Amino acid sequence: MTKELKLYINGEWVDSSNPETQDILNPANQEVIAKALKATKEETEEAIKAAKAAFESGVWAGRTPQERAKVLLQIADKMEENLEELADLETLNNGKTKREALSDAEESVNTFRYYAALLNNPNGVTYEAAEDIQTMIVKEPMGVAGLIVPWNFPLLMSVWKIAPALATGNSIVLKPAEITPMTAVKVFELIDESDLPKGVANLLMGSGSVVGQTIAESHDVDVVSFTGSTGVGRGIMQAATGNLKKVNLELGGKSPNIIFEDADLETAVDYALFGIFMGSGQVCSSGSRVLVQDSIYDEFVEKYVARAKDIKVGPGNAEGSQMGAIVSGKHMESILEYIQIGKEEGANLALGGSRIERNGMEKGFFIEPTVFTNVTSDMRIVREEIFGPVVAIQRFKDEEEAIRIANDTEFGLAGAVFSKDHTKAMRVIKKVRAGITWVNAYHLTNVQAPWGGYKTSGIGRSISTNALEEYQETKQININMDPKPIQFFD
Ligand code: NDP
Repeated sequence: MTKELKLYINGEWVDSSNPETQDILNPANQEVIAKALKATKEETEEAIKAAKAAFESGVWAGRTPQERAKVLLQIADKMEENLEELADLETLNNGKTKREALSDAEESVNTFRYYAALLNNPNGVTYEAAEDIQTMIVKEPMGVAGLIVPWNFPLLMSVWKIAPALATGNSIVLKPAEITPMTAVKVFELIDESDLPKGVANLLMGSGSVVGQTIAESHDVDVVSFTGSTGVGRGIMQAATGNLKKVNLELGGKSPNIIFEDADLETAVDYALFGIFMGSGQVCSSGSRVLVQDSIYDEFVEKYVARAKDIKVGPGNAEGSQMGAIVSGKHMESILEYIQIGKEEGANLALGGSRIERNGMEKGFFIEPTVFTNVTSDMRIVREEIFGPVVAIQRFKDEEEAIRIANDTEFGLAGAVFSKDHTKAMRVIKKVRAGITWVNAYHLTNVQAPWGGYKTSGIGRSISTNALEEYQETKQININMDPKPIQFFD
């Protein structure tokens, strides 16, 4: 029988009054793998109320950092024991390869452990502000954190939000993307087995327009952390104005990957492939614009296309698959539409461009690695986020032009530079207006480094110590060490 995914409110798995359910599909073959309940507005409000009551009772916020760390470690251990299952569920529901899913699962465990470790550090400052006045700066949890997660990294993005929000003593309401709830449900099953008090963590499946919007608008939610498209991010920010809740947005990108003529070509080609085709290009930080210096452009393209042609596309759980499925039929259609736009705009389609419907991929959502060359900055395939395995390779003359083209975008999430001249590479990367950057690499990152974008790529930073601040209030306490009248009106 198909598994039914229930809502998790106030420490219980509960039904919804909404008779409508969501079929959860395996994008590699369109098989229904589960049915998810869809929370109503009232049920969303109920979950928020439970989170608020748990927060106000102090069952979690009132615990010492060491006690909270112990629970985070418990969750990490349980996830580690279930690593294979988490990875399999992610592959099944999102379409990514098992290798990618395992790496996400391992990083999720690391993330819980990292925040547990941070809790053992002193947090706060105290200083003598004036004679007999000691000032303390303390950090406090915000209250209820609304966490809205996309479908491209359903597990890792959930954990990137859950771990720092819980570490800092908040209660949470998590909404996974409607089409990819499998791993979030598994994480909550593990949370349910942990010593986290009831009501602190709540999980709601359902649509963005009902559940997501209710979370963003609620006056009982104190901070909303959202990862997804720039358009929805704008809406979240507007919805948050009612109670002026804190907003953390991790949005889209169209990131430049600049390859200079003095780069190690094999390395640059290799990372430029990894930069866009990892996750089938459904990664916010993808290097979807590769900028290559004129003098090596043709040689680069030749090597790049030859390598891209060899990428083995296939079901994420099939032996040898290097690039998995696109998450949904709707998203696949949107990517194919962009490929059509690219052709009509006059870009040269050097590789791919079609859906794959052979070799066991007949029923799934698969797209060939697609390479456009001779593109210009005004083309829509260069300006808009496609979020698929589609790369645009553009020429540049010199350093100045590379920087100009790189920054000629509304986004500012990521960017990279390839050159053996480290001084030049540093000079250029410092001028790239983006929050996540690399020199002679792409996509490599770690939980200790703040993640987020400039310009329309977002507000605030995920993970690292910065993420603690996203879920905390800051208070100054001024202590009079020698209480006597101030005599201001004498
Ligand atoms: P969305 O931005 O629509 O979805 C992200 C999350 O927001 C989902 O949980 C979604 O719920 C929820 N959501 C949708 N509408 C609202 C709303 N009004 N209020 C609150 N929450 C809402 O991304 P899509 O899935 O539609 O993808 C579209 C494009 O977004 C992609 O092509 C890509 O460009 C970009 N994207 C970027 C990501 C990133 O990591 N930066 C991740 C995912 C997408 P639900 O899906 O259940 O409706």
